[in-house]
Amino acid sequence: MTMSVLLTGGAGYIGSHAALALLQSGFRVCVIDNLTNGSTEALRRVQEIAGKELHWVEGDVRDGHLLRRLLIQHGIEAVLHFAGLKSVGQSVLDPLTYYDNNIGGTLQLCQAMSEAGVHKLVFSSSATVYGDPATIPVVESCPTSSPENPYGQTKLMAERMLSDLARADARWRIAVLRYFNPAGAHASGLIGEDPREIPNNLLPYVSQVATGRLKAVQIFGNDYPTPDGTGIRDYIHVVDLVEGHVSALKRLKNQSGLDVWNLGAGRGYSVLEVIKAFERVSGKSVDFNYAPRRSGDIAQCWADPSKAWRELGWKAQRGLEEMLGDAWRWQSANPNGYRDDELTI
Ligand code: NAD
Ligand code: UDP
Repeated sequence: MTMSVLLTGGAGYIGSHAALALLQSGFRVCVIDNLTNGSTEALRRVQEIAGKELHWVEGDVRDGHLLRRLLIQHGIEAVLHFAGLKSVGQSVLDPLTYYDNNIGGTLQLCQAMSEAGVHKLVFSSSATVYGDPATIPVVESCPTSSPENPYGQTKLMAERMLSDLARADARWRIAVLRYFNPAGAHASGLIGEDPREIPNNLLPYVSQVATGRLKAVQIFGNDYPTPDGTGIRDYIHVVDLVEGHVSALKRLKNQSGLDVWNLGAGRGYSVLEVIKAFERVSGKSVDFNYAPRRSGDIAQCWADPSKAWRELGWKAQRGLEEMLGDAWRWQSANPNGYRDDELTI
């Protein structure tokens, strides 16, 4: 029988790609999103690409009543929890909003799930929980460390809350997925990353410089102990990333308790390598200048994704050039993101 899943934050960047992958894998999909950083046009396009419908509700994950109703009315069997705020800088300026949304939201969600008898959960965590890892590539058993910013704290606290929950009640089956650096877009160019503000992340910033919307990339630090002095990260194609969620969801059937998987490609690229590769793929020049290191950044980090391969049968299939090519197809076809086509569905 078809399984029904609820995606919190399903109108956002990763959630919309996950909604598409789940529809294409035969799941029935229900989305709740408060649209602080999501778009109804993304959901319209997801349905267009899939040729299938999803159910969507504008609402907040801190609204326990609404969640319970959705879980029960739609016969939800599992939840993928993407909803949250993700700007590191903003979390430093406004920590309470971040704790409220990310911790309060996860707490309300778990309570509503418990009351509705739904115990399967896939949680969006982040490599930020490793802090500055002692060994690279990073394995899941690497100690987590106290992140320097409230955003990172919310991810670590949510992981701990979920781990306590799974320990207290054997009915829970929880997959914690630690994302490295999601990037790129669906190959159709119809859905992609559409930040409301000036982007914080490297890839959307580079793309917007290439379209002329922004002037030049500031490279945060060229004095790191890396081969070219710029920071190294593990960029993972968003379509690979969401396929990891489908694999984790399928495994929850046979899992007990909580388990953690890294979702990364398993190799790192420097900021300069990314910019040069983007120029090659797009045929556009991307101006940049060197700026001081960004506070809280580490020199380098990439995943050991072998646990996900062993246990979920998942690994990243798409390389850097494909990721950048897909990011560029999306950005060049939609220089203003979804804004030109935003409507209510
Ligand atoms: P996004 O901002 O594009 O998507 C998040 C969605 O959640 C948005 O559509 C937003 O409107 C919605 N939302 C926020 N608060 C909500 C609330 N209280 N109730 C209902 N909806 C709410 O972000 P994304 O890049 O798709 O990230 C998804 C998840 O993955 C987040 O939890 C994020 O912290 C995590 N993550 C992202 C990255 C990354 O680089 N993109 C890396 C690691 C982890
Ligand atoms: N970066 C940069 N300029 C930018 C944004 C990011 O040089 O405008 C660098 C950043 O210092 C890091 C890498 O690009 O080395 C990836 O940063 P991002 O914010 O995308 O992800 P993070 O790894 O910080 O979560």
